[in-house]
Amino acid sequence: MAVDHFSTLDSIIARNSAEQIEFLQALVRAKSANPYTVDKSTPDSGIEKEMAAVIAAQLRAIGLEPTLIGASPERPNVVATLQGAANSGKTLALNGHMDTVMPSKQWTMDPFGATIVGNRLYGLGVLDMKASLAVFIYAAKALLEAGITLGGDLLLTFAVDEEPGGASPYGTNYLLDHGLTATTAIVAEPGLDNVTIGHRGGYRFKITVRGEAAHTGSLQWERRELGKNAIAAMGDVITALRDLEIPSQPAAAFPGRKSVFTFPTLIQGGATINTVPEECIAYGDSRLMPGNTEAQLEGLIRERLDRIEGLDYSLDKLLFVPAVQIATDEPIVQILKVRTQEIAGITPTTEGCGPWNDGWMFISRGIPAICGFGPAGAGVHAADEYVELDSFIATTRIFVRAIIDYLGVAE
Ligand SMILES: [Zn+2]
Repeated sequence: MAVDHFSTLDSIIARNSAEQIEFLQALVRAKSANPYTVDKSTPDSGIEKEMAAVIAAQLRAIGLEPTLIGASPERPNVVATLQGAANSGKTLALNGHMDTVMPSKQWTMDPFGATIVGNRLYGLGVLDMKASLAVFIYAAKALLEAGITLGGDLLLTFAVDEEPGGASPYGTNYLLDHGLTATTAIVAEPGLDNVTIGHRGGYRFKITVRGEAAHTGSLQWERRELGKNAIAAMGDVITALRDLEIPSQPAAAFPGRKSVFTFPTLIQGGATINTVPEECIAYGDSRLMPGNTEAQLEGLIRERLDRIEGLDYSLDKLLFVPAVQIATDEPIVQILKVRTQEIAGITPTTEGCGPWNDGWMFISRGIPAICGFGPAGAGVHAADEYVELDSFIATTRIFVRAIIDYLGVAE
């Protein structure tokens, strides 16, 4: 029975492929470059508004009823449900972000031109991850055109504000805080060669050391009655944190990896060359393994700094994302592995990835999520990003199979 479905679905996907590619071009042309960092991101910047409108219109065109939901009408996430019969007790959420990074100055093509050269479609964010968003829609369209009723709901979720650091309250987190739930999710960051079973985490922080300003030529400074050099005090902080190691346990998804602490990565201080500096700010970045917590990182830092006599400092967290992993025997992992082998002729690895994404937002809420599986290409966060068009269509064939394998078909 399933075999018949798949040959029908393959013909529909083949028939729709030219239209699917044109739709991807429309997504590339709908600019959604995100200039913000996590702390600067605002709910009303309108970055993904045009993308959301193009996606919502296409969802309506294929017969779904999209909902636009977000912290403000300027930054709507888009959600649509392909209603299943609910006899499987399962719900599968497909998730992707609508924003992109800012274009690199080294592009040799128009980043918004959606130019096709041979098997490649070039565009900013085409691989990361507009192609995946188009795969969701055309997989759903094929299922609808084939008249298939799934055994559970398929949720298509298009989120805002991932690129600043996979930690936004406005995107996937917002959806999960406002009713989105599933029994499994696929966060379709690109690449077919790995079914990504987790990602490392991160803790970014800022240390502010306060001193006291004084004129370097003053008698009070000469006698050390006034003035305290904040930059020199930061030197003590750097020394104290130099050899800090974050304890970490080996994790199946990250073979041979460990947590890494880097401080400082950026430093600011001083006002003029003849003033004792009153403040120095330094930033740090930590890469985390499963089990590391925000409180643990803060404790490790404070333990060392509290020992420095006379140090006036504050420690501020800029971002915390937990490292997450799911078991390789989760049904969706095995399904994607088998179907990729069948359709693309490659056996994907099953490992976690280094840079994090929105995957942890599902996994930390108890929803097993693939943290990366999508079409192939190159140039993510760099110049001349492209998706391979044959992979783009093959991924759609893999997704319809995975959706049916996971949710089943209503009888
Ligand atoms: Zn991405």
